[in-house]
Amino acid sequence: MEHAEFRVKAKEMVDYIADYLENIRERRVYPGVQPGYLHKLLPTEAPQQPEKWDDIFKDVEEHIMPGLVHWQSPHMHAYFPALTSYPSIMGDMLSSALNVLCFTWASSPAGTELETIAMNWLGKLLGLPDCFLNEKNDSPGGGVIQTTASEATLVSLLAARTRALMELAKLNPELQSSELLGHLICYCSDQAHSSVEKAGLIGLVRMRYIESDENQSMRGAQLEEAIISDKAKGLVPFWVCATLGTTGSVAFDNLREVGQVCEKHSAWLHVDAAYAGSAFICPEYRHWLDGVELADSFAFNPSKWLMVNFDCTAMWVKDSTALHRTFNVNPIYLRHENSGKAIDYMLGTQKANTRRKFRTKDDGENFDKSPNTKSDASIVNEVDNDKHAIMNGDLKKADDVEVTDRNKDVSDDKTDDTNDLYNNERNLHGYNKISHGCGKTIQLENPDKKEMLHWQIPLSRRFRALKLWFVLRNYGVSGIQKHIRESVRLAQKFEALVLADQRFEIPQPRNLGMVAFRLKGDNALTERLLKRLNARGFIHAVPACFKGIYVIRFTVTSQRTTNQDILDDWNEIKTVAKEILIDVFGSENGNIIVPKKPRISLKETRELNATFGTSLLLANSPMSPKIVNGTHAAICDYEQVLTSCAQTFAQLKMEPKDSPEHDTEAVDALH
Ligand code: PLP
Repeated sequence: MEHAEFRVKAKEMVDYIADYLENIRERRVYPGVQPGYLHKLLPTEAPQQPEKWDDIFKDVEEHIMPGLVHWQSPHMHAYFPALTSYPSIMGDMLSSALNVLCFTWASSPAGTELETIAMNWLGKLLGLPDCFLNEKNDSPGGGVIQTTASEATLVSLLAARTRALMELAKLNPELQSSELLGHLICYCSDQAHSSVEKAGLIGLVRMRYIESDENQSMRGAQLEEAIISDKAKGLVPFWVCATLGTTGSVAFDNLREVGQVCEKHSAWLHVDAAYAGSAFICPEYRHWLDGVELADSFAFNPSKWLMVNFDCTAMWVKDSTALHRTFNVNPIYLRHENSGKAIDYMLGTQKANTRRKFRTKDDGENFDKSPNTKSDASIVNEVDNDKHAIMNGDLKKADDVEVTDRNKDVSDDKTDDTNDLYNNERNLHGYNKISHGCGKTIQLENPDKKEMLHWQIPLSRRFRALKLWFVLRNYGVSGIQKHIRESVRLAQKFEALVLADQRFEIPQPRNLGMVAFRLKGDNALTERLLKRLNARGFIHAVPACFKGIYVIRFTVTSQRTTNQDILDDWNEIKTVAKEILIDVFGSENGNIIVPKKPRISLKETRELNATFGTSLLLANSPMSPKIVNGTHAAICDYEQVLTSCAQTFAQLKMEPKDSPEHDTEAVDALH
């Protein structure tokens, strides 16, 4: 495709995209295809000859679209939102066209600088403390865009692991890193996302799951109890992941309590706020952030609720040197003359080293004990036998070289930092041979002051700051707040509909834009309901299970969801529920006995509750009285309500001017 054709076809594509998003309600949200459907439709080999664009694109509507879940549909309620928006799409279009890779400042100065600026904006919008921002040169904190929340969690765990191993190596010079690794343990709640468990598996560390309380929240006391018991067994707690907005029920760990425990026991605290983080743009939700200043790292996904399309995970750290120590490789081809003067997301400026003492004397005494893991088999996620073999010596040599080198304190090493480039086996692939040929060592401007920092696992990174910046500017804070609040309002509406139907229940309080609901009774009923709903394809939702209770998660996802969409969804749910209850129980109410309203006289009610005034409260205008206390109507006879209303009316001697809506002075002035 050349320029001329691109101009035409890309414009057609823009129309296609706008039509798609505008008319998305017409599409079945969940596809009706079977596994392997596409294999039957497409050839098994790539074409030998170039194909016409129109032929290629025809297949999109015919073959691809019917096999998609339409994540932007207002009837998409599964998972968490994965929203896009026009400014974000345009950011990605431009970023795809430019295709700059923003790893060092030199690789794309505007790319890296815009990322720092956008992350500072975003951090401030969330109300994060200054220590997470990168506004002052001597601040070791800063933000970086990672690919996913899973990756942010892993990066955080690896950074904490390095910090712990470095501290332990200093205190225990006689022990190999592989032996030290076997003593490390980290924590999260039993409600944490599976990516936290995965980070522990990749990091080869034990993970203990703290039982959450009745609100699915991890509490400080339970965490501390586990930490103390593990320390007594010779384990070294080094990392805790707190979740703000759990995947199952949008529950919130108690950040202040957890943070205080982490501070006391010198554990790195990571906050995973993948979904809920976006809500903190609205000040009314920031109470859940209380204690965030105690965290070492914090991440959330603007790619979920903030209308910045995937991928975009915002991660802030208090001490970016911890990342640097973890991902420290320093090949010559990534150096540039401005190294150290601005943030490089591959490399960066030297920051104050805020290392903390990791291990106390008391820990030292415990440390020589073998960690007792057997008795904890049910709660400690043991590394498997192969991994034990690696840690206990079978592969000790290779492992030790790798881990020990990496965990050396960089400050001990810095004089030979550059020479090391030529000597280190890891840098002898291709590029290093060329460097040898140059025959000289690149001198950093001031090796004592400048260090290279690394912020992520991959080297190459897309220009993702562009779409984030476009969204922040095009919606403005007020536009984003409005969007978040509207999602929550619609979730409240759905919650009210569910609660008003006696056949359903909401076992956990709703938080933000997600309602976890179920049919009362056996889990199998709700499971059947969900399966049938998804098979019909009008709405799409996924389940969650907490403490043995199976629920359907109903998340408001789209920014284009209306009241009518919610009502349509609820009607669909009721229709299917009715079918199932009739199938199973022969009655649309299932085995629920709908109680008749007890008939209690008004006199009796008044006697029972002396403070229960007549629930006829006045709305803003006295001419339009409204019964706002539903309790009254619910417990009284219809006739009694009417009599009561009539009596109250008779006593009212109010003029329209008594309405608080009328500013009497202003009204008088008009006369
Ligand atoms: N953490 C939480 C609390 C989540 O809900 C999710 C996904 O929904 C994740 C982590 C994983 O997110 P990602 O797909 O960005 O890795």
